[in-house]
Amino acid sequence: MIQSSPLGRAELALSRRRLSDRLRAIGIRDERVLEAVASVPRHLLIPEALRGQAYKDVSLPIGAGQTISAPRTVAAMTQALQLAGSETVLEVGTGSGYQAAILSRLVARVVSIERVPQLAARARTALDHLGVDNVVVHLGDGSAGRSADAPFDAIVVTAGGPEVPQPLLAQLAPGGCLVGPFGAREEQKLVRMRCDGRGNFSREELGPCRFVELLGTHGWAAA
Ligand code: SAH
Repeated sequence: MIQSSPLGRAELALSRRRLSDRLRAIGIRDERVLEAVASVPRHLLIPEALRGQAYKDVSLPIGAGQTISAPRTVAAMTQALQLAGSETVLEVGTGSGYQAAILSRLVARVVSIERVPQLAARARTALDHLGVDNVVVHLGDGSAGRSADAPFDAIVVTAGGPEVPQPLLAQLAPGGCLVGPFGAREEQKLVRMRCDGRGNFSREELGPCRFVELLGTHGWAAA
């Protein structure tokens, strides 16, 4: 198959580099994030039939009614976390595993939670295949976080909820921040919450966005 030939690999690497350059052109400034986009093989984390679109800046269906976010969204959220390298990060909504794979190149450890068994299993297999060994995928309701592994230096929520789940704020380390989409079901605002370490949180709104629903105890009720 072309993807495993040296020429295929070179073409894929070039497509990734072009994608990374495009994200720089639209305002992503964190060079570590851009380098991660240029190196993570997104085509291996999406359904095979869609692989030709892997390096377009678009969201794509991944099964179970869920989507992998567009690269610009993943990059903007990751940049907003302002990661230095030694962090433990909680991701709510593993989905395809792409956001987790990007984070794996930027921090020490990633704890990711997915509620759909089929997606959690597929993401784990794909991450293993990529040799990613600092991401743990848990099956469960990530809207409650994971107190056993808390505190987290950063938290990224990749599904849209009505409001920032309180348990997630409680699991944030002093000085850490949480980024995620919150608001109505149809459209949310990307929100960054920062913990000052004295129990106070500052809230910034980073712009409108649209994500699949965060379902769970501290999200929307499942239909
Ligand atoms: N970060 C993912 C984006 C996946 S879309 C990626 O890079 O591909 C959001 C995911 O959140 C979906 O897979 C959905 O099943 C999951 N999700 C929704 N509510 C959840 C919850 N309460 N706990 C864990 N995962 C949840």
